[in-house]
Amino acid sequence: AQKIVIIGGVGGGATAAAQIRRNDKQSEVILFDKGSHISFSNCGMPYYIGGAVEERDDLLISADRFREKYKVDVRTNSEVISINRKKKSIQYKMESEIHEETYGKLILSPGAEAVVPNIDGIEETRTFTLHTIPNMDAIHSFIDMEKPKTAAIVGAGFIGMEIVENLHALGIKCTVIDRSEQVLKLVDHDMASIIEDHLSEKNVDIILNDSLASFSDHGKCLHLNSGKTVQADMTILAVGIKPNTKLAIDAELKIGNTGAIHVNEFMQTTDPDIYALGDAVETKDQITQAPRSFALAWPAHRQAYIIASHLNGETISYNGTLGSAILKVFDLTVGATGNNSTRIKQQGFTFKEATLKTYSNARYYPGSDRVWLKVLFDEKSGTIYGGQVVGFAGADKRLAVLATAIKGNLTVADLPELELAYAPPYSSSKDPINILGYKAASQIEKE
Ligand code: FAD
Repeated sequence: AQKIVIIGGVGGGATAAAQIRRNDKQSEVILFDKGSHISFSNCGMPYYIGGAVEERDDLLISADRFREKYKVDVRTNSEVISINRKKKSIQYKMESEIHEETYGKLILSPGAEAVVPNIDGIEETRTFTLHTIPNMDAIHSFIDMEKPKTAAIVGAGFIGMEIVENLHALGIKCTVIDRSEQVLKLVDHDMASIIEDHLSEKNVDIILNDSLASFSDHGKCLHLNSGKTVQADMTILAVGIKPNTKLAIDAELKIGNTGAIHVNEFMQTTDPDIYALGDAVETKDQITQAPRSFALAWPAHRQAYIIASHLNGETISYNGTLGSAILKVFDLTVGATGNNSTRIKQQGFTFKEATLKTYSNARYYPGSDRVWLKVLFDEKSGTIYGGQVVGFAGADKRLAVLATAIKGNLTVADLPELELAYAPPYSSSKDPINILGYKAASQIEKE
């Protein structure tokens, strides 16, 4: 038995605690979080705001319940402020008092912070980020009390997009502002333009290649760098996140090139008694092997399993991340796995691509709708570097197949051979993935 201290009690930290209990009933486990909620479903927050999730409680697990279920000493409202590696102890602040706790093994899962740019005229009562339950509650109660009619969403990444859909569901007219030339940089420009058309159909205004310079009129008027102005009763800033690395830096643990905590294949930092996981770490891109940091739930959960196994004496490696991500943008499903064109180019790879616009399933069967697929691959070996899918029914399935193909080291030449099952409500006798594979494989250079 050992004494395990975990910093951060949500995606990575709470999962690590639960995973440790899978095969270790003896060790003392203490879980710290600076907030008052642990193990909440951050991914569900946009949907509570929009009303698709009706009960706030459905996103939460009480600290008492977690304590009882996993026999973990949960300490909320307790911010860890320093790590003393020599003494193997941490200091934490609870109700403005400083306390100390020793550890045998320490696990860091402090996540990331939403970036709040320093903007003139920002009015905190009507400008929000969405990263925590208090953030969610603030947005929810603002909407309840103030009944906003218009909203500006700054940042068209995946959280920005989810917020747009959910505010729109409440009858709020949304304007999305992004400094790049497209929405959702997760996917390539051609795929993003399908999403932009869909947003326009839903009466969402999109302003690209422009950014927020300042606010006036008590935060209700946004001045953009182009000189344009946007009127909005509320603003959501979704311009990105920054990994929480202060504790690790102060403890002189290695920080990687991406600015996140460096870890080895067992998720150990440069101090073997300190593990780290989740949004705060960088891991290897499974395809390019370049260090990369991801803010996604799957890596955090897998890494929690790797750490719990390692603490139990099993050496299972974390084999890197593909960054498979999926989201709903109104009626569309958008997903990507592996690298997009921009990223693969940045990594110095040359590649070819195949794209396909087709139908999810037999056209004569009700519900059949468009689906767009894209695969990026090596022109000689056919190695798949990345896949992207935009569509309606069955888009998620095609993304899952592409992600599985990459993981299984299939090449584009293997895609036509995948026997993916057909009946008119689900597919066509050649699945869209098969056709994408034929198109890609025909481009592979013959020696
Ligand atoms: P978190 O879950 O953020 O937990 C970190 C915790 O550490 C926080 O509770 C924080 O209070 C605590 N903490 C930080 N510093 C200290 C300290 N010094 N002392 C004590 N406690 C501390 N991912 C997906 O894959 N799919 C999705 O659909 C999806 N949707 C999302 C929607 C939203 C709105 C958000 C915000 C995130 C979403 N994510 C999604 C991302 C996913 O939630 C994160 O990748 C995951 O939660 C990461 O887990 P983590 O433990 O690294 O960080």
